[in-house]
Order: sequence, then structure tokens, then C-alpha cells
Amino acid sequence: MAPTSKPSQASRAPGSCRRAARLSNRHFAPQRPKSNIAALHSTNSFLDEAKAIEGQIVITRRRIHARPELAFKEHRTAALVAEELRRLGIRVETGVGGTGVVGILEGDPQGSVVALRADMDALPLREQTGSEFASKKVGVMHACGHDSHVAMLLGAARILANHRTNLKGTVKFLFQPAEEAAEEGGGARLMIEAGVLEKPKVDYIFGLHIFSNFPSRTFALRPGPIMAASGTFRIRIIGRGGHGSAPHQTIDPVFVAAQLITALQGIRSRMVDPIEPAVVSVCSVHSGTRNNIIPDDAVLEGTMRTVNEATKRRVASLIRGISNSVCRTFGARCEVELRDAYPVTVNNPAVEKEAFRILSTIPGTETIEVPPLLVAEDFSFFLRKVPGTYYFLGTRNESKGCVSPNHSSRFKVDEDVMKYGADSLALLAFEFSGRNAR
Ligand SMILES: [Zn+2]
Ligand SMILES: [Zn+2]
Repeated sequence: MAPTSKPSQASRAPGSCRRAARLSNRHFAPQRPKSNIAALHSTNSFLDEAKAIEGQIVITRRRIHARPELAFKEHRTAALVAEELRRLGIRVETGVGGTGVVGILEGDPQGSVVALRADMDALPLREQTGSEFASKKVGVMHACGHDSHVAMLLGAARILANHRTNLKGTVKFLFQPAEEAAEEGGGARLMIEAGVLEKPKVDYIFGLHIFSNFPSRTFALRPGPIMAASGTFRIRIIGRGGHGSAPHQTIDPVFVAAQLITALQGIRSRMVDPIEPAVVSVCSVHSGTRNNIIPDDAVLEGTMRTVNEATKRRVASLIRGISNSVCRTFGARCEVELRDAYPVTVNNPAVEKEAFRILSTIPGTETIEVPPLLVAEDFSFFLRKVPGTYYFLGTRNESKGCVSPNHSSRFKVDEDVMKYGADSLALLAFEFSGRNAR
């Protein structure tokens, strides 16, 4: 999940932009010139408004953090969201795709419709941050920062609601359930099936994720694929058990599992283009009951990640082929289950280019281009239907102890960055609602 390059914290001039490092793993791009765009937008009134409501954004985030809810169970969070949207005079729909909430802020009907999305679910993890607003639910924690996503999007809704009279289009606020529930297909797909991209039809969509890999106040994005496709596999190796002292009378599935784990790594190292991102990880191995019994079977489970759908199909077929061949070589059989989770998250290049420019104007932040990350997201389903952009907001801050990665029981958000996140969402919606998409 780690990116391959670490952005520096060098320039912090108002809205500095750095088409940093690489356009892809294959090409090095020249540093994007710092245009005078930053100067043009040096007075960003939305940021002033975000700063004015920063306290409320933080309080909202802490309230949600203390009462985390797992995928598809975000009832309390959804109620909080709906109440706040109604208070702002925004039309609200609840129960969308399960616990999802949609807010619709109507401006000029001639303008474009922009959707902003925040995911709401927490993870099954026991929090160990020791913070004063730590989770009050044992075994459930907002360890991926979705609490901050909800708070930032409500902050953006507040800013935009204050500007409804000069809003050039319509903004839809999508509060989505179950991003973390990849095995169940995730919440984005359910919201799409419930019709959130229609009536009015969404022209552009944006999503933001807080991310510990990047320094605080850094926006990170790229055109094209930004996150991986994910899939899971489960391989049952069927041997023939017997006595530990006489392996020749058995077909030892533990031995075969060891060969297979090693062979599967040949996919990444020998069979996929070395400059094409791909991961095959065996993450669970189960077999046997005691030290002198060769068991009948062994089960391996793992994940695969690629940023290209064709590579994903190839990796999946190689997992199946290698499993069958290795097992056959040693007289065993196998059952291979491959399951798709989320597709590649692909930013629309034209929208990303404009979003990058807009983010670069936000004072006190830095906007950088990053290589694709091998995390996966169900925001990918939205981007298959609507042009848009997914971007990260860094939250790594050593001086505040915000150093543990997302999904760690010690993950902490640098709350000072949330005002920039709220500002960025409001700004993108405001600017794109004035663009003619039809
Ligand atoms: Zn996560
Ligand atoms: Zn997440």
C-alpha cells in the first residue's frame, strides 16, 4: 500500500503545485511549471470560510470517531448526516443503497451536476491511539479516516449552502455505506443501482481520501489509473494424509502448499512486465492439526492487485494455471476460487488536469502527482459511469504522532488538514458546476 516515491515538504507557497516525479512508472515528466494560476486565486474565500467552521468540522469528526459503525450498519452516522444536511436547507434522501444518504443542493438548473462522495464505514479493529475521543465501541474503529471524510464533506456542504444563490449548477452530496466491504461488493455499486447518478444526471464526480503516506496538507493525484483493481483467491490443495514418519505413503499438502506459495511469486517476478504494477500476496495458510499427522488438505488465501484490467485477467489465469500444475506435479489436486473485488480506479485525464489546477490554488497546501497506489476503492464504480477524479489528502505529521498507516489500530488523523479537505471539495464542486458538460 506504500507509494513508490515520497513527496518532499519543500515548497509551501500558496497553492504550490508539483507535477512531481512520474506520470507513470514508464515516463518521467518534466516538472510542471508553476503558472500564475496560484497568484490569480491567492485569495480563496472558501478557505476562509472553511477556517471559520473548522471547530465544527473537528467536533463532527470526533463525534463520529467515538461511535464508529461497521459496513452497512452506519445508521447513527447516516442520521447525523441527514440532520445536518436538513439544517442547511439541503434536500435529503435517506436509505439509499442501504444506509446511504444523498443531499441535493440546487443552483442554476442550466449548470452542470457535480457529485461529491464520502464513505462512512469503520473497520473491525480495537483502537489503540489513546486519544480522548477514541472509539467507545470495542473492536470497531475509524482506522481508515472515513469519519474525517464525512466531516469534511459536511463542511463543504455548509460552505456551498452559503453560496447557493451564486452556485452555477447543482451539487449532490453522496454519503456512502460500506466502502470497506469489498467481499460483499461495496456500497458504491448499491448507490449506483439505487439511481444516485440520475435525476438529476451527474456530470462530474469527486472523491477524497485522507492518507497517511503523504505529508499533511498535500493533495496527491494523477491522471488515469490512480488505484488498483483488487481480487481475492482461495486455493484448496487436496492431498492424502498419513503418518508424519512416512511421507512417501501420503500426498503431503503442506509440502505442496510451500512449493505453490513460492511458485506464485514467479507471477510477479518472472511473468508480468517488471514495470507494470502487480501484487500477488498469500496472506493466510491453514492446514494440519498436530505435529505428527500429515493432513489431507491445505488452504491458501490471498489478494492480487493490478492497475490494468488485462493484467488482472492474466494474473488470475496464471494463479489458476500454476496452482493446477504445481499440485499435479506432486500428485495432489486443487480447487481454485478467484473472486473480483473492485476494478481499477481511473481518473478522467481532462477532469484530473482541471482538478489539479484548482487544488494547486489552495493556499497553504501542496499538490503533487503520484504513481498509482495498489490500494483499491469502490469509487472506481462511480468513475466507470461518470468522468471525475479521486484524490488523496496527506495526514502524515511526525510532530503530532500521526505516523501510523491507514488500517492500523494506531492510525491518527492530523485534524488540521480537514479544513483544506472541506475547502477542496467545495471548490471543485463550485468550479465544475459552472462548466458546460452537456
Ligand atoms: Zn480502508
Ligand atoms: Zn478508506
